[in-house]
Amino acid sequence: MSRVYNFSAGPAVLPEEVLKEAADEMLDYKGSGMSVMEMSHRSKVFDEIIKDAEADIRKLMNIPDNYKVLFLQGGASQQFAAIPMNLMKNKKAGYIVTGQWAKKAFQEAKMYGEAVELASSADETFSYIPDCSDLPITDDMDYVYICENNTIYGTKYKTLPNTKGKDLVADVSSCFLSEPVDVSKYGVIYGGVQKNVGPAGMVIVIIREDLIRDDVLEGTPTMLKYKTQADNDSLYNTPPCYTIYICGKVFKWLLKNGGLEAMKELNERKAKILYDYLDSSKLFKGTVRKEDRSLMNVPFVTGNEELDAKFVKEATAAGFVNLKGHRTVGGMRASIYNAMPIEGVEKLVEFMKKFEEANS
Ligand SMILES: *Cc1c(COP(=O)(O)O)cnc(C)c1O
Repeated sequence: MSRVYNFSAGPAVLPEEVLKEAADEMLDYKGSGMSVMEMSHRSKVFDEIIKDAEADIRKLMNIPDNYKVLFLQGGASQQFAAIPMNLMKNKKAGYIVTGQWAKKAFQEAKMYGEAVELASSADETFSYIPDCSDLPITDDMDYVYICENNTIYGTKYKTLPNTKGKDLVADVSSCFLSEPVDVSKYGVIYGGVQKNVGPAGMVIVIIREDLIRDDVLEGTPTMLKYKTQADNDSLYNTPPCYTIYICGKVFKWLLKNGGLEAMKELNERKAKILYDYLDSSKLFKGTVRKEDRSLMNVPFVTGNEELDAKFVKEATAAGFVNLKGHRTVGGMRASIYNAMPIEGVEKLVEFMKKFEEANS
């Protein structure tokens, strides 16, 4: 067996320990005589898995009691519709557009009400986070929407926008569980798990209870009503059982390794290794305004497309895979999520230095 250093933006690297445990339990989960993939979602064994997962993410994120945790299908993209359908009471909301995912959410919301662009960083290819201290938020807006970490462009909000008292809704797909958060500052936090938490196929929605209502937009499908899912503890229909099980293991792995404080410290150390090198390199450079840099997704370029392609090819051959940048940015992107070991980043930088020497 040989494992590569996987810098994929998602689905992405998972902790090896978790994968090994899952392999050990594949044929017989804790004496049940079956795999978690084969058991009823209404069984006692699975009930314990989902309850444990919820308890552990509550502990990790210090989620207040007046927030529900929902394990849902449809990925983060399904929430682009579910949010306006459930939350647009006045049929109006403000969106901050900092990249493709925020833009997709903004465009989807327009189908259900008046979505207003409060700010955007499209003018400079989304390479920064706009000033959000005094946005044109009006009283009739139901919420303010952000994508907190921009997976494609590699930016992250270091301070949350001033929402002028409106509920903040945040897509945290690519920074989920990467550092401590104050959940009480948000109305809704949600993220697809395949970036930093688990296998694809699920989104986790953390929502303040008063936002779970019956009076949703007319025509909202039963499955997309937060109330349906909350009333049924995410078991209205068959949930993504195996994904919940692996996420639960990742939560336990995080707790065992010091929780989100420790993760933040490690993520900062990892990112610093890469950013410090990018800042000193004459060949590679980061594409993002320094103060807005993400700890999770690090885009960089040489400025020469042929050289970029050569780098990606040679890196792949050396066991550093999925470094090709998103097609809209070009160049490279290293996603260095929680499960990327620090050695992976150190070795990548060593490799980059050698490449720089050989190509300058
Ligand atoms: C990947 C990603 C999405 C889309 O996730 P799906 O689960 O594929 O719908 C949305 N938002 C952000 C920030 C992402 O990184």
